Amino acid sequence: MIIVKSAEEVAIMRQCGRILADILDILRMETRVGISTERFNVVMAEESRKRGGRPSFKNYRGFPANLCVSVNDEIVHGIPGERMLREGDIVSLDAGIFYNGFHTDAAITVGVGSVSQQARDLISAAESSLTAGIHQAKCGAHVGDVSMAIQECAESRGFSVVREYTGHGVGRELHEEPAVPNFGLNKGPLLRKGMTLAIEPMVNAGAWYTKLAPNQWTVLTADGSLSAHFEHTIAIMDGEAEVLT
Ligand code: MG
Repeated sequence: MIIVKSAEEVAIMRQCGRILADILDILRMETRVGISTERFNVVMAEESRKRGGRPSFKNYRGFPANLCVSVNDEIVHGIPGERMLREGDIVSLDAGIFYNGFHTDAAITVGVGSVSQQARDLISAAESSLTAGIHQAKCGAHVGDVSMAIQECAESRGFSVVREYTGHGVGRELHEEPAVPNFGLNKGPLLRKGMTLAIEPMVNAGAWYTKLAPNQWTVLTADGSLSAHFEHTIAIMDGEAEVLT
């Protein structure tokens, strides 16, 4: 069932999203050569607590960390740990915050030191795909319009979109209906005012196929190519969608 939020509920999610956006800014500034990915896990916990929220992902279906940290060919669901960031890596930081009864969810991909032209193009294409998708997220459009815009943008830059993992509704639950695929398949549900969605293109430099790491969490590109991930939580409003994160 797709849940439509009241104006009051959207207002709480706006506060929740602001907190998450601030924390992602801090995580971006923390990103540098020589830190371990565990550093992000520690900062996520500290900054969430300071702001009266808690990390949504911790223990979600048993996930062992406060956020997902995915490096290079890791697409999503990377687990922070001892791995050190090296010059030229790209790192995707995907986090959720639970605050005052609601979740928001967002992700960024950041270059570590100086990165290759391909990595820069990939990051730019993934971020542009998210913007293109959000632009289609209006009352009266369908989820499929968002999906199609994301796919067209990424593929026009020579990259591919991951099929097996999708965006989703978000609110009182971290994952709500509807699914928001990153490729156009069908029209999908009608978008209505008050729907809150996490839109999250995962864009690969090579083919879209994925594989699961031995830890049973981390999703990698099947061909070892780089992957970038951007995500915002948005609310469907009367005109343009409102970005909450
Ligand atoms: Mg998400």
